[in-house]
Amino acid sequence: MHIKSIQLDGFKSYQKHTEIAPFSPQFNAITGYNGSGKSNVLDSICFLLGISKLDNIRAKSMNELISHGGSKAIVQIRFDNRDKKQSPFGMDHLDELVVQRHITALPTGKSCYTGYTLNGHSATTQRMIDFFRGVGLNVNNPHFLIMQGRITTVLNMKPEEILGMVEEAAGTKMYDQKRKEAEKT
Ligand code: ATP
Ligand code: MG
Repeated sequence: MHIKSIQLDGFKSYQKHTEIAPFSPQFNAITGYNGSGKSNVLDSICFLLGISKLDNIRAKSMNELISHGGSKAIVQIRFDNRDKKQSPFGMDHLDELVVQRHITALPTGKSCYTGYTLNGHSATTQRMIDFFRGVGLNVNNPHFLIMQGRITTVLNMKPEEILGMVEEAAGTKMYDQKRKEAEKT
């Protein structure tokens, strides 16, 4: 499963509907002037994947993700699902999967609603987090993201710390912990 296109509407600096496409299944780079919205694209992906620590996407509350002066933000990602070996469980009959997440600001105070749709049908946040985890996309794994400013921290890590990071990202670290526990007994 890989990204085909990203549609942003009212998300951070993307006040007007914007489509970002195409994407390579292997490697993508986003280039542009300082302040032109490159990191905001990555923030929108993390938001769609269900990030729980909003400060990782540079916001104190969901409301800050809505473009200034607006009341709604929509992020939609179309995933290419033709590689059936990587399909989410029960989804291998579809060649394309469309996930959308929105935030609607409430007129009173600072609170808001957020919700998901999967292929046009509403889905709970937990359903979507499980959906992404099932294909190895756990945005809340501390090593999933190497955000701006963290590159030097990673470059200065000791080899065993880098190994730990890779193991965590690959999802094998939990087996290490389980083995240690089993050896104790
Ligand atoms: P750099 O090269 O410096 O890393 P960048 O291309 O990554 O820049 P971003 O951080 O994606 O830039 O975008 C920064 C811009 O997004 C700022 O101008 C900021 O004002 C704007 N921005 C952030 N949140 C909102 C919002 N809620 N509404 C409107 N604009 C916003
Ligand atoms: Mg940036």
